[in-house]
Amino acid sequence: MKIDSLSSSAILNNGVTMPWLGLGTYLTPPGSIAEQSCKWALEAGYRHIDTAAFYKNEENIGRSVRESGIPRQDVFVTTKCWNDDMRALTVAEALDRSLKLLGMDHVDLYLLHWPVKGKYVECWQIMEKIYKQGKARAIGVSNFFIHHIEDVLKIASVVPAVNQVEWHPLARQQPLVDFCQNKGIIFEAWAPLIQGKVGEIPEIVAIAKAHKKSPAQVAIRWGLQHDVVMIPKSVKKERILENADVFDFQLTPDEMRRIDALDKNQRVGPNPDKFNF
Ligand code: NDP
Repeated sequence: MKIDSLSSSAILNNGVTMPWLGLGTYLTPPGSIAEQSCKWALEAGYRHIDTAAFYKNEENIGRSVRESGIPRQDVFVTTKCWNDDMRALTVAEALDRSLKLLGMDHVDLYLLHWPVKGKYVECWQIMEKIYKQGKARAIGVSNFFIHHIEDVLKIASVVPAVNQVEWHPLARQQPLVDFCQNKGIIFEAWAPLIQGKVGEIPEIVAIAKAHKKSPAQVAIRWGLQHDVVMIPKSVKKERILENADVFDFQLTPDEMRRIDALDKNQRVGPNPDKFNF
């Protein structure tokens, strides 16, 4: 797959295209910081923004997209249904709230944020209705393990387009990646920079030096070369630019293997089978 610019896109299982590289916005404070950082990203050529009801910045992201002057259809916007709305089965109402805040009539991708026990299968049926109404151009899941996806597939008439999961050199979850990719479910990484700690890994620092790139750029490049959608978050202009400057170098098969070998199943976030929120 050719991934050589910020507009290079994955093709989802329904034909919708999703840029391989986007801007993450978890812990991006609502208000002017969210608006400004999203604006910098769009100016730099990013065409994919990842938000969630839980992040409380949808209103700012929506405003930035609108004020950028970029046609709405050229920016891929993801938001997510939070667990409380999954527990209450108010997935559709939650999307309506998100759309109102975003100031949009649809999102490009709507995700179930976590596999809330006893609820996620029923929630998926609501997601399918949302999809059929056109309020989301694609629907998917997040933090789903293989067994969660299998439960959904038993009843699904629409296969999830995406699974967004914690994924980085220390937590590669290869069986889950293989499962998703074999089912045509695009694999998307959250915490691709290990929440800012990627520069603490000597092997990655060494590879970065060899390419005159930063550890963050190497981690992003590694993900793209694995056909994984990457959504690094930053609120700093220089880092937003840095994280997008990953199309002028390539990791060798040996470098890819050296980074693959760092995997220790070490998460920065909760285990999707054990979360308590
Ligand atoms: P990331 O791995 O993207 O790391 C973000 C951290 O790295 C921030 O502290 C940022 O600081 C720092 N950073 C950014 N760029 C650089 C750089 N070039 N060099 C050094 N440090 C850097 O973690 P996230 O948890 O934010 O994950 C990415 C996105 O995934 C989220 O923002 C969110 O959109 C999504 N996500 C989804 C989850 C889910 O459950 N579905 C859970 C968590 C995240 P600064 O901003 O100061 O630059």
